[in-house]
Amino acid sequence: MHRVVFSFVFFLCLFTPLGANSLNFENIKELSNGDIRISFRLQKVALINAYALDDPSRIVIDVRDAKVSSFSEENNLGPLKLVRASDQNNLSRIEIDLKESVYWKKPWQIKSKDHVKLILEIKQSQKVKKNTRDILIAIDAGHGGKDPGSVGTNILEKDVTLMIAKELERTLRDTQGYKPIMIRSTDEFVNLDDRYQKARELGADLFVSIHADGFRLSRVKGASVYVWSEEASSITAENLSKAKLVADSSIKLKAGRLDFQDFDEDAARAIYQLAYAAKIENSIILGEKILEQLKRDPFTHMHKPNVEFADFRVLKSIDIPSVLVESGFITNPDDSRRLSKKPGRRMIARSIFLGIHEYFKVKPKPNTIMDPLPEFLTYTIQKGDVISEIAIRFGVTVNEVIKWNELDPSSIFPGQKIKIYI
Ligand SMILES: [Zn+2]
Repeated sequence: MHRVVFSFVFFLCLFTPLGANSLNFENIKELSNGDIRISFRLQKVALINAYALDDPSRIVIDVRDAKVSSFSEENNLGPLKLVRASDQNNLSRIEIDLKESVYWKKPWQIKSKDHVKLILEIKQSQKVKKNTRDILIAIDAGHGGKDPGSVGTNILEKDVTLMIAKELERTLRDTQGYKPIMIRSTDEFVNLDDRYQKARELGADLFVSIHADGFRLSRVKGASVYVWSEEASSITAENLSKAKLVADSSIKLKAGRLDFQDFDEDAARAIYQLAYAAKIENSIILGEKILEQLKRDPFTHMHKPNVEFADFRVLKSIDIPSVLVESGFITNPDDSRRLSKKPGRRMIARSIFLGIHEYFKVKPKPNTIMDPLPEFLTYTIQKGDVISEIAIRFGVTVNEVIKWNELDPSSIFPGQKIKIYI
């Protein structure tokens, strides 16, 4: 009996806070490009949630499980009025009072010597009617460097994934309101933990991992979409050992990128259960939206007709909806042919992009182009663009693009903004 009680208390100790954390104001700076940077100091990486409110205009950053000694910093730089923080049951709430609406960047956390900096940036040059930020999409090209992934007859998975990732990056970069975060953009090795941690570090709204399967039977082919499996997450024994790591405050922060010890997703999953439940639900919706688009693509066959579940470690972030897209089997001649050519890869990138866009239609993010839902997307024409390719990127026809924009296809120019009604 005593032993049971003891174990239970021990269990609670492990799972209550992710170790003690504290929050302090650091400084406000005007950067050389005119942007304003507000920095805070945390003892360790925290789960944060940031949003902006209008009337009166302000940005709120909620920092979970961190103690703050209330502060209030008046500042008249640009649109700023006051930066303040207060303690609210188990969370610290930072509020930045503003004179007007601003274009802001989602806050991010970086390690610096013995502490973590929490940074918020506000653009001064971009005037907006309401507080606005970009939607950040983390694009994870599977494998890389010494890890080739699956090996096809003429192609390696690591190359296919990077090329698809770059296609997706382009569409997101050139579409107003979206912003890509590339987990890797060269042929480099990145370990699995660093991949989802980079998404956390930069405050990604979604995480998409791109892969291509390999199998010993060459007839197996087609694309599939995976989300993190809940079964895999209930392996408590492993969680306990990791939770212990986090609870141990003797762990020293090392400057540089986040690593898995800085924010232990396994321990956090048990603590922030609501955030985790929402993540799973949203990942499934995102997976379904991407799957629907893949099914629309006449060149891509489906390997699995429904969203699949697996314990792919790269998907384990507890609050960032995450999916893994297997774009096909490079060990199959048809898939290999499709994925070794640009049009085939572009179709995968387009399905992912359209799936993401459809996801935000049902799960609109406040302060972004998807809230309220826009009538159209704005795409900025790049050097070398032709209308037929732009049409393919967005799953529309050339005639539609011409009609919507009253275009003369022979006289489009880089920097021109066009409307895409999707
Ligand atoms: Zn892979």
